[in-house]
Amino acid sequence: MTETQLSDLPLRDELHGQQPYGAPQLSVRAMLNVNETTYDVPAEVVDAIAREVRTAAQSLNRYPDREFTALRRKLAAYLTSESGAEIAAEQIWAGNGSNEVMQHILQAFAGPGRTVMSFPPTYSMYPLYARGVYSEYIAGTRSEDFAQDPDDVAAQIRAHRPHVVILCSPNNPTGTALSLDVVAAAYDAAQDSQTMVVVDEAYGEFRQPGTLSALTMLEGRPRLVVTRTMSKAFALAGGRIGYLAAAPAVTDALRLVRLPYHLSAVTQAAATAALDHAESLMANVERIKQQRDRLVTELTAMGLRPYPSDANFVLFGGLPDAHRAWQHLLDDGILIREVAIEGHLRVTAGTEAETTDFLNSLRTHLNG
Ligand SMILES: *Cc1c(COP(=O)(O)O)cnc(C)c1O
Repeated sequence: MTETQLSDLPLRDELHGQQPYGAPQLSVRAMLNVNETTYDVPAEVVDAIAREVRTAAQSLNRYPDREFTALRRKLAAYLTSESGAEIAAEQIWAGNGSNEVMQHILQAFAGPGRTVMSFPPTYSMYPLYARGVYSEYIAGTRSEDFAQDPDDVAAQIRAHRPHVVILCSPNNPTGTALSLDVVAAAYDAAQDSQTMVVVDEAYGEFRQPGTLSALTMLEGRPRLVVTRTMSKAFALAGGRIGYLAAAPAVTDALRLVRLPYHLSAVTQAAATAALDHAESLMANVERIKQQRDRLVTELTAMGLRPYPSDANFVLFGGLPDAHRAWQHLLDDGILIREVAIEGHLRVTAGTEAETTDFLNSLRTHLNG
């Protein structure tokens, strides 16, 4: 019997010839390509998660709390202490990664015949989310240094009148943080078209001192949404927990599109346990930020061009042949990220030892 090929199936037209998301998953010495925390989950957090999951397991014959009440309360308390903004449990929504949360947003506010806009180079998933909900994707522009200017962002939103606009701050893959006047200008420009404005703060905890979270702007802005994740700063990428804060009416909209009981009891248990240990998990965030700043300093000293970063990674240019540099690093057991920007690579800030290994290997390559 001959195997059925994908092209034999009655696939949706717009999916023909498309590629799935596929950052390489290789097991090498230093995995610095998808911005995970490279520190292991601390033993006390592992124990707490195991205890909570064990308790949850006793009731797995029942559906989980559809409203993830305990988790929402803890996420609200965490965001309040992290951002200084007063965030209530009714403002919180969560899903299996902020990827799912973003899908919920687009299912509720975009969809067929509607448009989704973001500003490349940015997170490569945004056009894919749009495609998945049958929306048209609009690629805005940003300046040469990847910064965004309030007037320019406002003008682009007024010109395109998208249904949803996604700002990414700090931006992946460039590390660029947005000042809040950009978010304010985007929101004001979106008033006329009633555009939902989403700020993806997946890397929010890594922001430089003095940079404020868009969470501080939610008050009085019912179409503003701020998404966060436990995948990066919380060292819980494998747990698949993302969340957002917005006006309570927004979370009511998302209830209309989520699948029933989308957040498993095991996920809720793991997330609440990790949140109880937010403080010790954040100790590693400080160490990672030091390595991030060290990467910028040392890459500059090597004659390369790193961009300022508010995230846990650094984008750098100035490479004569980025793919060759990437391959040299991989041959040394160091996996970083190739990006769609000519002559550039992106590296995650790992432990001090990983950062040293990366810098040494790259130095050897450049001198070789
Ligand atoms: C890593 C990342 C996320 C997180 O996705 P999860 O589904 O929460 O793991 C979201 N947005 C951006 C820009 C990211 O880089």
